[in-house]
Amino acid sequence: MNHTLLLCIFLSSIPASFASENDPVHTPKSFSYQNGNAIFVDFTKAHYEITYDLDQKSARALAEIAFTARETGYPIFDSVTPPRSVVLDGKKVISEETKTPDQATQLRVIGQKIEAGEHTLKIELPLTELVDFRLGGVRSAFWTSDLDERNFLERYLPSNFEFDQVKMDFLVRFKGLTKPQSIYTNGSVLRLDQETFQIDFPDHFTASSIFFHTTPEGTMDETRFTLKSIDGRMLPVLLYATKGSWIASLDRLKEKVSSVFKELEADYGPFPHPSILVYQAGSGGMEYCGATMTDFGSVGHELFHSYFARGVMPANGNSGWLDEALASWRDNGYPTLSSLSGSSGMSSHPYYTRITDMAAYSFGARFMSLLDGETRGKGGMKPFLRYMVATQALKPLFVEEFISMMEGFYQQSFKNLFKRYTYGSGLNLDQAGLRTESQPHRKMSLTELKDYL
Ligand SMILES: [Zn+2]
Repeated sequence: MNHTLLLCIFLSSIPASFASENDPVHTPKSFSYQNGNAIFVDFTKAHYEITYDLDQKSARALAEIAFTARETGYPIFDSVTPPRSVVLDGKKVISEETKTPDQATQLRVIGQKIEAGEHTLKIELPLTELVDFRLGGVRSAFWTSDLDERNFLERYLPSNFEFDQVKMDFLVRFKGLTKPQSIYTNGSVLRLDQETFQIDFPDHFTASSIFFHTTPEGTMDETRFTLKSIDGRMLPVLLYATKGSWIASLDRLKEKVSSVFKELEADYGPFPHPSILVYQAGSGGMEYCGATMTDFGSVGHELFHSYFARGVMPANGNSGWLDEALASWRDNGYPTLSSLSGSSGMSSHPYYTRITDMAAYSFGARFMSLLDGETRGKGGMKPFLRYMVATQALKPLFVEEFISMMEGFYQQSFKNLFKRYTYGSGLNLDQAGLRTESQPHRKMSLTELKDYL
């Protein structure tokens, strides 16, 4: 049996978002650099050649990126691993790792000024993170986190910030392969030959969208079935777990995924992705577009994120709390509040912040309860969330856009509430009664993730 995932039929009834229309709104501002500006650019296409050399026990990646610059300046990209070579418009250039002026994050700036227009970038680097050569095969994954700095795709491959929707594809080669490899991904996989796979991802994907995991065939238990969406689509579902560790629970997981799917479609409309992929492993979970790596208890939370986080997407770190607050509000059973003490700075971290404020899970969830209380007379928050999925799915947005859409929906002002509770200088833990609260949800570090390759 061919264990290669073929999640290739893109049946989504939701209109495709047009990356080029949405990106300019969310592109971060340029900042002063050398004798000009470091500029954020719009990736239009990124082709990644990923080679696992099983004889040499080494892996490398070559990124071929086409991008548009809207102003003159030094182009920005990111890669945690220092590149071996960077070629801009056919010419070898240097790149420097630097901090943003607000010290919020690090990125790479190319030391060559360009004019506005279309450009190309070729970047080569070794692939070392979450790569494990074992028993004639390789285990590798591009798992992400939004709670730590630079833990999206840039952890593994040259990429852009989260605002950028870019057409990406992988050409994955297993050189010297003796046993077949399985590929688990939320892209569509085409096996070109025994060693080579082509994976295409939808146009709306960003640096936080891709799920990619490869292991030697036969190391995982799998369950496949289909779920019928309320819009008539038959969605292929694949659940998997390390062989032996969860055998008894894949049936239980199937029941759980099926019931959560029903719940979410009833609340928020058709599932915004063409398939569902669940890797049951570790503790806590992390969300991707129509996919998740999660423990059993977080399945509902993570699949909710296919609507908010990887459906309606955060365009930056300061909007990342919205989806965690909403997911946690759901986890708590959608309680309503009429008052709330404390404040937070979830929306007001430094401009270039990329990570999500941890207060989202507790204080943020309570703030959603408060908003639900404020809108009770008009049905609470759920009708608005359903409207957001219908109109904003597969598009990144700022928290400010969320607020103004909410004001438009309810014909009521919410600016002061958001200002008071999310644009403060920081969370007053004692006042909010959170100091003794345990973290209701967690995301694993890269070191922990290595155990689940
Ligand atoms: Zn979450």
